[in-house]
Amino acid sequence: MIKLERQPKPDYLSDATVIELTAKFQSDGSSVWNHPQIKLPLLVSSNDKCAYCECSLSDESKYMEVEHFKYKNLYKELVVEWNNLLPACKRCNIAKGVHDVGTDILINPYEVDPRNHLTFKLYQLRGRDEVGTSTVEALDLNNSERLVFKRFEVGEQVFSSVRVAIDRLEAYKLSSTAIRRNKLLSIVETILNECQPKAIYAATTATVALNDEEFLSLIMELRALGLWEDYLEAKLSTAQGIALS
Ligand SMILES: [Zn+2]
Repeated sequence: MIKLERQPKPDYLSDATVIELTAKFQSDGSSVWNHPQIKLPLLVSSNDKCAYCECSLSDESKYMEVEHFKYKNLYKELVVEWNNLLPACKRCNIAKGVHDVGTDILINPYEVDPRNHLTFKLYQLRGRDEVGTSTVEALDLNNSERLVFKRFEVGEQVFSSVRVAIDRLEAYKLSSTAIRRNKLLSIVETILNECQPKAIYAATTATVALNDEEFLSLIMELRALGLWEDYLEAKLSTAQGIALS
């Protein structure tokens, strides 16, 4: 989970439309939130990912659901309140179910930085506080089949890419050609790209990469060799902003 920035309220949700849709939901329970002009800006704000588990919502198998942070049947008046809506995958939405954030608060990644509430150990998320612990439990964020194993795969990919980067660094040190330099910087950039907000499971990738001693040493060596460039520094800085400690 990473901190998200909410898009401005869509024009579609004018005061009149909100009143009309809320009344419709209250009278016949219809899915008034299922509208492209609600769903699209939500997807943009989360980079097409589930706001909770960071899985891709553009995969054919995982379509997006509009999640009501405050459960719609308990807070019917908020059914199309822009600040109450999040893009979520079906599994997170089902896991959260009827949970009432009014009595047991959860992390809303549009409101708070998940890093303040979550930590990461052995590919599992742990709460740093009660809010974090409740969030992991309510959303089933340590489900081994769908998330912990996925995080493990992501971690293995990071280690494998770091290994390739180290080999390329050694090759560059033997013969500092432009081709070898470009190949080296390209794999480092690829690793950092997977740690950016647009990438799926970015919090996991950034956490694994930035806690990997070999990757950190590699960055230090690139700096010492004068190969560390501003665009890499910018990506590293963004990754540091989403990695869990
Ligand atoms: Zn999810």
